[in-house]
Amino acid sequence: MFLTIDDGAVKSPESVRLLAANDLPASLFLTKNTIRDKPGFFRAFMEQGSLVENHTISHNVNMTTQWGYQRQLEDIAGMQEFAVQEYGRTPTLFRPPGGAYSTAMRQAVAAAGLKAIVTWEAKANVGRMDYQYGNSLRPGDIVLMHFRADFSADFAAFRAAQLAAGLEVVLLEEFLGIQ
Ligand SMILES: [Zn+2]
Repeated sequence: MFLTIDDGAVKSPESVRLLAANDLPASLFLTKNTIRDKPGFFRAFMEQGSLVENHTISHNVNMTTQWGYQRQLEDIAGMQEFAVQEYGRTPTLFRPPGGAYSTAMRQAVAAAGLKAIVTWEAKANVGRMDYQYGNSLRPGDIVLMHFRADFSADFAAFRAAQLAAGLEVVLLEEFLGIQ
């Protein structure tokens, strides 16, 4: 199974410590406007094997209906540039703000050089797990968390569910061969 952590609003040392203590790699879908005050914070995760991926500059959850192709491309390609500048690696994965995407967005994602759009099957939220299918984690599931004030409680819920399911956490990029 795969762990993904989004946005980057709350930058707590506890989140770095929890991933390191449990030796878990994650794909971090970060938003420029949320992390630009302290982008360096996320380098600690990269040193542990996690990767920074693309979650746009603006996090406009209505961009597929409000914006045309060109404006979406600017928001997505701009995050690519920011990630390369800050972290020295070109993101390969894209997660749409809010999860919804359209044909124009798919074209913009491809034009920006990204390899895949990633959604999720389960999420850790307000200290508990929410499943789109069934009531436990399954092999291949992608779990969504956020860098929020509830990080420790969300992480505890995720970790308990992962161990209960007997699943190993693998870096999604490594599994797909698009690091
Ligand atoms: Zn988000």
